[in-house]
Amino acid sequence: MNTMLSDLQRRDLNHVWHPCSQMKDYEDFPPIVIKNGKGIYLTDENGKQYMDAVSSWWVNLFGHANERISTALAEQALQLEHVIFANFTHEPAVLLAEKLVEHTPDGLEKVFFADSGSAAIEIALKMSFQYHQQKNKPNKKRFLALTDAYHGETLGALSVGGVGLYNEVFQPLLLDTVRAQGPDCFRCPFNENPESCSAPCLSFVEEKLKVHHEEIAAIIIEPLIQAAAGMKMYPPTYVKQLKALCEQYDVHLIADEVAVGFGRTGTMFACEQAKITPDFMCLSKGLTGGYLPLSVVLTTDDVYEAFYDDYETMKAFLHSHSYTGNPLACRVALEVLKIFEDDNYIEAIGLKSAYMREIATEVFEDHPYVGEYRQVGMVGAIELVKDKVTKEPFPSSDRVGYHIYKIALENGLLLRPLGNVLYFMPPYVITKEEMEKMISITNEAIQQYFETAEVMVVE
Ligand code: PLP
Repeated sequence: MNTMLSDLQRRDLNHVWHPCSQMKDYEDFPPIVIKNGKGIYLTDENGKQYMDAVSSWWVNLFGHANERISTALAEQALQLEHVIFANFTHEPAVLLAEKLVEHTPDGLEKVFFADSGSAAIEIALKMSFQYHQQKNKPNKKRFLALTDAYHGETLGALSVGGVGLYNEVFQPLLLDTVRAQGPDCFRCPFNENPESCSAPCLSFVEEKLKVHHEEIAAIIIEPLIQAAAGMKMYPPTYVKQLKALCEQYDVHLIADEVAVGFGRTGTMFACEQAKITPDFMCLSKGLTGGYLPLSVVLTTDDVYEAFYDDYETMKAFLHSHSYTGNPLACRVALEVLKIFEDDNYIEAIGLKSAYMREIATEVFEDHPYVGEYRQVGMVGAIELVKDKVTKEPFPSSDRVGYHIYKIALENGLLLRPLGNVLYFMPPYVITKEEMEKMISITNEAIQQYFETAEVMVVE
């Protein structure tokens, strides 16, 4: 155990079990105690600053301790902190529902509230299943999901997830999901270029649909970026054609925009780029700009009406969470949407992401261990490879990303790599100079790691 622990670190390790962590790692890498945040920076108890290049798990949009959002939250807290949401409502929820309907693709008319991304996924899966039951399609009780998908950590969400790291151990508990090979543009089996391809890999989904469509209620995807799998990016045409297949085979499309919603891909929602309206859209994370846990599932009138009937028919959707429609979270989410509108952030994201692409490509393109630098909107990813020609990955046991993460932290940058993929998903308030600094610290951390790691460069 590290003997130089601060009081809070020691007390944390006595009782706190941290997420997504092997707690034994904390023996020589104890948790960093953050005292405050401002803009894209977090400051620890010793006064050291860290640039938050991952928006604290992809939630923060407009910086830490944002004045507008904090003020809105404080005002709401003095007025109404919470109220049961069954048979009751309040202005922040009504205004938020209206705004979300206005901003999301046409046809999404109804908003169901929850409190996390995973809960939103559970709701969409359950709604789709129950819809088909109530439409006399009792056999539609399975879901189709892609390899490398990530939709959260609850059992339903894990069932449609495809990243073994998270769901392997729970397999005996999970639903019997139909799995189709998803897009893999970096190691494309068709040798296509994502800029110009017509998504021939969608044939993997079509094959499964042909065989199983009568038993499938919905297909779930992360449009444009399979985020947790390592920021795997794929073109809008895939989503567009998938929606057509869903219609052809009478299967719902669930767009999980928990990670990519609210401007991350350059448009307010990723589905806009495919010009489609999914049957369900799940949103969370950026919804409250990183302030409070809140999620929503948006759906169509067609879905809503399948549940709308006299009480005795027992067709209601009886899903609830205690904090459903929490007024504080709704008020904060409204302020986030107001900031988007007032400050024209979609345009700003366009300019900032173009600059990030330019400088990152220049720095990383020819790096001997960078297989690819890819970017969609304000998500940039560096895929490290052992061999640039064959794209052979580093074995996960090398924990390359983890070691680079530790070096970058030492140097004041918070990255949180996904295996061999380092990525940038900064708050939108990042400036050009800060982007330059983020990229240069990352580059130095990569160099520093490889200089000391005794890895042979493959010529
Ligand atoms: N869906 C996607 C695409 C995600 O990236 C995540 C979380 O990273 C989730 C769902 C789950 O969200 P939460 O962690 O809020 O449960």
